[in-house]
Parts: sequence; structure tokens; C-alpha cells
Amino acid sequence: MRIRKPSFYDDFRCIAAQCPDSCCKEWDVAVDGEKAALYRSLPGELGDRLRFFLQEDAGVTYLTLEDGRCPMWRADGLCRIQAELGEQALCKTCREFPRLTHDYGSFVELGLELSCPEAARILLSRESWDWVCLGEKPASGDREEETMALLLQTREEAMGLTEADNPIASLLCYGLYVQELLDGGTETGFDPENILDFPGNGDVEAFLDVFRKLEILTPAWENRLKHPCPRRLQKEDRAMLRYFISRYWLQAVSDFDLIARVKFLLACVLLVCVLGGDVGQTAQLMSKEIENDAQNVDALLDGAYTLPGLTDANLLALSEKVKNGS
Ligand code: SF4
Repeated sequence: MRIRKPSFYDDFRCIAAQCPDSCCKEWDVAVDGEKAALYRSLPGELGDRLRFFLQEDAGVTYLTLEDGRCPMWRADGLCRIQAELGEQALCKTCREFPRLTHDYGSFVELGLELSCPEAARILLSRESWDWVCLGEKPASGDREEETMALLLQTREEAMGLTEADNPIASLLCYGLYVQELLDGGTETGFDPENILDFPGNGDVEAFLDVFRKLEILTPAWENRLKHPCPRRLQKEDRAMLRYFISRYWLQAVSDFDLIARVKFLLACVLLVCVLGGDVGQTAQLMSKEIENDAQNVDALLDGAYTLPGLTDANLLALSEKVKNGS
């Protein structure tokens, strides 16, 4: 099996007690069946505590929160399960976070999630994106392989467009072009200079309303959405675009819907610019609120076609504002 991972993938180390946020806050952790059975079978006070906090919802077992934190979180920032039973006793969610695995059948891609502050620091400090490939190259031939080849090739071109003068506008136009190819159109070549016009000033309130109407996890996020403080596009935003492109572009192989994903990822980066403040903190909070909530991701992918705040014209106009810092 071929494995592809970003060159910095192995640089990640959890900073535990030094973490400014912690993945042990605000989220109910989904616990896999094997570890849920182990936790329920443990003797003593640790087992009693786990049995008390483990709950079922729609066939999934969760470790619910106590005072907004994981009940296994210790005051020194470490995990009680890991400290008392060892790392192998962690459930899959905790063992893997913030590492991502995308299995595309003929190969697997690994990555890091922006919702972890330390992973966000690594991701946003990168000025380029290189892949390391391990294992055998997959055989090609069928329709899906052709589609994947197109997506892999265009993803590299999209990565290059993150350095364009207005990367958000360029990527939207490029996404529209690649969508035509996926829909069976003829390859005519994409002209990066041929960017659509930016009609009007853009409607910031309609754009923010898209996110205000999603599920909101923390009061901090609710407050940020109420009090935007727009800033100019900076190099960390270009790095954030590369993170999103790496994570979502190939997923179009499942349904040939690239443009909804492109608009989703551009809207997320635009949102971080429109909210302003520290780019790392804002991006990490945005990712935690949006990317880690499947319902929010689905709502944005659907809304890419219907919501006034996410029209092509509005995204293009807002991208120009963000580029100019106006
Ligand atoms: S959010 Fe990241 S750095 Fe913080 S505790 Fe979790 S894995 Fe470690």
C-alpha cells in the first residue's frame, strides 16, 4: 500500500500541559467498541468513573464531559487513562488525534488537523508543502483511477495558486475549471490571469450569517462571530489554504463534487481573515468549531450552492477586500 504524508507529519508532538486549548475540552470523545468494553470492565474507582461518564447516543459510545472537560483530564494536563494504563489503553480517537488518515483505496494519505494548537502552529508556519511517499505506486486503469489522477495533478496546481496575487479568487476560478473537467468538459488549459470580475463590495454580514447559523460549540466562537475585526491576507492564510487543499481536494473522487469543497475551504480561510485577531488561534478555533463537526461541514457543502453568503460573486468580492485589507 502506498502511503503519502506531508514532510512535516512526524514533527508533531503533543505539548500536553503546555497546550493553550487541549483536545480534552468541550468535545465528547467517541470511544471505539473495544475500548468502551475495556473501560466498562475496569475495577475500582477508575472503572466506576468511566462507567459513570460513558454514554450511548445513536449507537455510538461517548465519554461525556465534566465541567466542560474530559473526566479523565488531570490538573497537570495529562490523561489519567494514559498515565495509569499506558498509551495502548487510549481509545482510537485519543490515540490518533490530531493525526488524519484518508484511505483512498489504492493509497492512503496522512495529515494533521488544524484544530490542535500545536498541529496548527506547525501547519501555519510552513511556506511550502512537500509530500513524502512510501510503498508501491498503485496500478491505474479504471474510471476512479483516472479521476484520482486528475485530482492529484490539479491539486498540485491548486497548491501553486496559493501564491497567486489573490489566491482565493484564483482558486475559486480554478476549482470551477477543474469541476468542468470532472463533468466531462474538454481540457482547454487554465489561465491564472483570467480571473472573474469582483462585483461590488461583498456582503460580509450575509457571509458571517452562514456561520452564525451553524452549530456553535463554545461561547468564545459565538463572540468572535458577533465581533469580526477584518484583516489583510497574510502568509499564514496561504499556508492554511495549502492545509485545506491537501485535506479536501481528493475527496471529490467519491462524488465528483469538487466545487462545493473548494468553496467550503475558501470560505473557511476567508472567515479567519474576516474575524481577524491572531491567525493561529482563530484558525484553530474555526477548525474545532467547523471541521470537527460533521453536521457543520455538511451544511457548508450543501450551502455552497444555495446560501447568499457563499455565492461565487460574494466570495470573489470578499477575497478582494481581504487581499487589499479594506
Ligand atoms: S490539542 Fe493537540 S497539543 Fe493540545 S493536548 Fe490535544 S493533541 Fe496535545
